[in-house]
Amino acid sequence: MSITIEDIKYDLALAYRILANEGVLDTFGHVSVRHPENPDHYFLSRSRAPELVEPGDLIEYDLDSEPVSPSNLPPYSERVIHGEIYKARPDVMAVCHHHAAAFMPLIVAQTDYTPVVHLGSVGGDSPPWWDQRASFGDTNYLVVKPEEGGSLAEALGEHMMVMMNRHGVTVAGSDLCDLAFRCVYSCRNAEFQAQASQNGEIDPLSKGDIALGSQEGSLTRGHARAWEHWTVRLQRNNWLPPKS
Ligand SMILES: [Zn+2]
Repeated sequence: MSITIEDIKYDLALAYRILANEGVLDTFGHVSVRHPENPDHYFLSRSRAPELVEPGDLIEYDLDSEPVSPSNLPPYSERVIHGEIYKARPDVMAVCHHHAAAFMPLIVAQTDYTPVVHLGSVGGDSPPWWDQRASFGDTNYLVVKPEEGGSLAEALGEHMMVMMNRHGVTVAGSDLCDLAFRCVYSCRNAEFQAQASQNGEIDPLSKGDIALGSQEGSLTRGHARAWEHWTVRLQRNNWLPPKS
């Protein structure tokens, strides 16, 4: 069943609010989705706090992260993260960049992400690191130049998540629900990993466990259930995005 532009824009606004409500995004961070009919375009919000995003805030960009039609809306400075990943990875349909508190102990200590519980396999086996300063010299850690976004996309490679030294995380997904699932459960895993490492030795998932856990149908069965759960949590607070 094909999805309409209106539906995908509503789902993107919903994804912003879900990821804010689940503690992945705060004032900062952003999520985008590839245009369902034109793979050379994507949608991203104007510069706005994620929990306030609504369909009318979304801007359509080309893969050079230039707006498709003139817009007076202020853009996110880090939009090249999205455009450059869509350019490099035709399989990626949605992207999220975040600085979730759950990940910061690993980011700050430059500790590799390790799946320690089965749902943590959504972060993948040994996600790579990207160091903006090592590649471009002293930096304010905003990824604003196309070459910076391209370098990040290169570091991501074929993985679904890349750790950004002294900054945060960027996650890719095959659709918005897959992306949100990876974001939420990699955050949970990162939290468990950091806390448990204070308490004793960790016995993590094996490479084989991660491969089996990442197979289509293994965790993906929970996607619809998760999306419905996250949506009802917003609904209870009367915080679903307006249909505009
Ligand atoms: Zn950032």
